[in-house]
Amino acid sequence: MAAGVARFTEPRRADCPWCGSTALAVLLSTSDRLQAKPGRFTLEECQGCGHVFQNPRLTQEGLDFYYRDFYDGHGEALWDFNFRRLLGAYRGRVGLCAAHGVEPTAWLDVGAGHGHFCDSARSRWPHAVFDGLDQGDGIERGVERGWLDQAHRGRFTDLAGELAGRYDVVSMHHYLEHTRDPYAELDAAARVLEAGGHLLIEVPDPQWPVARRLGRHQLLLWNQPQHQHLIPDRNLIHALEARDFEVVAVQRGAAHMWGAELASLLFFTCIQANPRAPWKPEPSPWRRWGAWPALMVGAALAMPAAVAFDSLCALAARLVDRSNTYRVLARKRAHPAAPTADGQDEALGGWSEPPGGARGRG
Ligand SMILES: [Zn+2]
Repeated sequence: MAAGVARFTEPRRADCPWCGSTALAVLLSTSDRLQAKPGRFTLEECQGCGHVFQNPRLTQEGLDFYYRDFYDGHGEALWDFNFRRLLGAYRGRVGLCAAHGVEPTAWLDVGAGHGHFCDSARSRWPHAVFDGLDQGDGIERGVERGWLDQAHRGRFTDLAGELAGRYDVVSMHHYLEHTRDPYAELDAAARVLEAGGHLLIEVPDPQWPVARRLGRHQLLLWNQPQHQHLIPDRNLIHALEARDFEVVAVQRGAAHMWGAELASLLFFTCIQANPRAPWKPEPSPWRRWGAWPALMVGAALAMPAAVAFDSLCALAARLVDRSNTYRVLARKRAHPAAPTADGQDEALGGWSEPPGGARGRG
């Protein structure tokens, strides 16, 4: 930190990594509001295809710096608590698969975090194998707890070769938006799935009007500096179809994540203001014993109003079938169709980097 954080940023790119258009506009600029590490981050939106991405983006070293002590280490207990609160989302994912006749025998959860989702899904399919893949050491704890049968630790794009054809279900829940190259991740998913296998993806929706209105105060959807790409549903569907997936179902309103608007803003503002975070300077007695407790009391008093607002958002999401999150269930075709001259998939390659994965969340 003494050397500054400017070295963690790549040069700004002038075109959309999804479609190559040069018509870009700044969507928002913000700081690290979940951990309060130093730095400033900008999300730009492509005026051609609607793709939202961090620009300039962080280097791999920069991502390592900002992820450190987030889901593991210092932040492990907090996120273990948060992942346990996502039971409704876990049931929704399982329900979507079950409603479309998915009967897994070998399931790979990419970005499995600590293995919470697999632990939940196992109660619906007790005879299936549930493996997890992630970069953090939480994935190994998932095996120790008995939540995962096997842990694959590393980048999905690096491991896809040795896992080729081994699974009939692959899931990516809040994973793709963390990756540096979503096209390469979709290619990897197609590779590890057997023909006829299913891919389940859950990602934040950058088109959710409430998040656009709240701007940088919607912490979890924009989630800077972690989220590299925020993909509109039509773009993801197109990319899947270009990879010989048949889209079976798209869930919007029913996938809404309650509390991701104002309740989590209050919650994480308190966490972020903790003066005892190890990357912050030694706090003054006022900050430690005065300002922080006062902020927490204020947040507690405001929480009922935040909960009411978030509940209204959840109701609206159901009514308009548009939400802060969407799910896509797709099936890998048994007999690939003839390749299409698409050209779009070249765009991400323009970032000239070793193919990189990312940590996925829960
Ligand atoms: Zn674009």
